[in-house]
Amino acid sequence: MMINQKKVPGPRLTSQYTICPGCDLLLEKVQPTSTHTPVCPRCSHRLQKQRPDAVQRTLVLSLTGLLLYLPANFAPLLSINILGKTTSSSLLQSTLSMFNQGEYLVGILVVLTGLLCPLMTLSLLFGVSMGLFLGWKKKWMRIFLHWYHHLNEWAMTDIYLIAVFITIIKMNHTAAIEYNLGFFCFIGLVAATVAAQSALDQSQFWALLDRNRNHKQPQIAADTTAQTGREADLLLCQSCHKIIRSSPSRQQEKINCPRCGEILHLSPQKKLDRSWALIVTALLLTLPANLLPIMSVSSLGSMSKSTLIDGIILFFQGGSYGIGLIILTASILVPLFKIIGMTLILLSVHNQWTTWLRHKALMFRFIQFVGRWSMLDIFVIALLCSLVRFGSLSSVDTAPATLYFSAVVLCTMFAALSFDPRLLWDGEKSKQTS
Ligand SMILES: [Zn+2]
Ligand SMILES: [Zn+2]
Repeated sequence: MMINQKKVPGPRLTSQYTICPGCDLLLEKVQPTSTHTPVCPRCSHRLQKQRPDAVQRTLVLSLTGLLLYLPANFAPLLSINILGKTTSSSLLQSTLSMFNQGEYLVGILVVLTGLLCPLMTLSLLFGVSMGLFLGWKKKWMRIFLHWYHHLNEWAMTDIYLIAVFITIIKMNHTAAIEYNLGFFCFIGLVAATVAAQSALDQSQFWALLDRNRNHKQPQIAADTTAQTGREADLLLCQSCHKIIRSSPSRQQEKINCPRCGEILHLSPQKKLDRSWALIVTALLLTLPANLLPIMSVSSLGSMSKSTLIDGIILFFQGGSYGIGLIILTASILVPLFKIIGMTLILLSVHNQWTTWLRHKALMFRFIQFVGRWSMLDIFVIALLCSLVRFGSLSSVDTAPATLYFSAVVLCTMFAALSFDPRLLWDGEKSKQTS
């Protein structure tokens, strides 16, 4: 449901307006219903979705996830049998396999995204929802919800599960696969995590936390002639969506959100240099990531090294077109799309291009959404390294491109994270005023 950017008569108070997190437009506040989700008329950003029974559902689902976490990670995941020899691996062993290969930096990334962030995400959700359910008034609940906002994107169990399926399809032709307890617990863990994340209603949670503190949101009047938050000297916290007065006379470059503690940059243009540096680094690292071998397979004494492209061609030659397409998309097309898309967006901000702004805003949200999926190939390699351990018969090891490829994923994700999409719309404003 598109909402109107119509003028509210008299001074606009905090309870009457909101600011779009995507483009900074001042909008009349509309409560979401079960059938209608308010959408920004300028950038199509979805403003708020109604999630019924958010506290109870988040509590139950995050608890389910936590209960499944230990068996999913520690119980055997898959057993593989080749010519009478069997190896099995748990998810934890797969996650740690990069360290056995001497790939310590990639190992840390896999442990963080596949093991620690998923556990922390579930624990934070459980802590906050349990506190709200029991009516606790603790400061740590606000800290937990703020951390969740930042860690959520780095919890990648959903991608890890797809990697498990790809590994199964990859091994299916050459080995007999047995599914163990860990496999089924892992599916349950991913389902509970995704459901808990989508049950969470952040604005409702923050409102409940404010109510617990007996903290009344001070009414901040907005200038009725102002079109955007910046014109009205208002700043929206991207973490908890609190509206804060940002006086232009302030000398500071950043302030802390009084509700969640998030650092808010008063001039986000300064972060553009960081986005540029990360995108250029990612572009340079794309070459070794794609040209050097990413995996080496030794079988009956002969060793063959394969690049990203070689692996994809093998899938197509073997007739696994669907999987080949998924790996091609996640490992080659998505990183390239992210680099080209972010370059276009950054150029657009630099040159204040005002055409196709809504499309560029949509493209940025898509880049944010798909960014983490490039980790797919890294998880597949980690699983293969821990499962295919048949000595001279057959074994899989990492190769130099693993490190470069992980660095490309990290650089593009951080480039998108450090970019403020509201900058895209600044050109439109300066064109109107000139
Ligand atoms: Zn907007
Ligand atoms: Zn905040």
